[in-house]
Amino acid sequence: MEKKVTCKSVLSDTKLYGLDYSVNPYTGCRHSCRYCYAVFMKKFTGHVEEWGEFVDVKENAPEVLEEEVKNKEPGRVLLSSVTDPYQSSEKKHRITRRLLEILQRKGFSVSILTKSSLVLRDIDILKKFEHGKLSVGFTINFSDDADRKIWEPGASTIQERKNALESLRSEGIPTYIHVGPWLEGITNLQRIMEETEDLIYEFQVENLNTRRKETILKVVMENYPELADRYRDILGGGKKHNKRLRRSVEKLREVSAVPVKLYID
Ligand code: SF4
Repeated sequence: MEKKVTCKSVLSDTKLYGLDYSVNPYTGCRHSCRYCYAVFMKKFTGHVEEWGEFVDVKENAPEVLEEEVKNKEPGRVLLSSVTDPYQSSEKKHRITRRLLEILQRKGFSVSILTKSSLVLRDIDILKKFEHGKLSVGFTINFSDDADRKIWEPGASTIQERKNALESLRSEGIPTYIHVGPWLEGITNLQRIMEETEDLIYEFQVENLNTRRKETILKVVMENYPELADRYRDILGGGKKHNKRLRRSVEKLREVSAVPVKLYID
């Protein structure tokens, strides 16, 4: 279900990934990722539908942002943190596009993070950003699209994301990969790196947020039963999980041609 809403603010302070602000043009996300921790947004909106089944379109967001930027330092913006700015609703509503235009015109730096090839539609605006003020990241957690279908049913296929990465790169736009979350025993960091390192300036890895314990365990039990015990331990707070993540990232750094950043919350 999609409905139009009005918002009071657009630029939110954030400490995520070392940035200053986050901007979320929508509440809810049709990508419907099974591990998504943004599900907590439901309680602020009163939605009772499952995560992935509703989208609130912040139709006045461009007007609100236009006012906000008058009084804010042009810092570094993450687009987005609790929704995907290029989910299917954006095709019609073009809220992200209008927000990008404002941020570019006002001299903000923007880091777009998406799982959608729709970002290609806005190449004309992306190319207007000053050097060093824009990057586009694709989240890629799997090299096999069968895993993508299980975990990220509403998002672009892995191949579509790689093709989009290539197109942006060929236009001279700085691109990065964000693996988030690292799903132990399922995410193949080495392979994702091999398949993308020629197209990126940075490779990021983030640990699993366990806010959706029950859903994650259910998906693992149904699709990866051999990993069920391991995930019971991880989701129960098993300390060795993050150690294994650190070790995997260390190994990756030994062979990678680009810097690898690790985010553990
Ligand atoms: S794309 Fe991001 S915000 Fe959307 S459902 Fe997936 S993890 Fe959540």
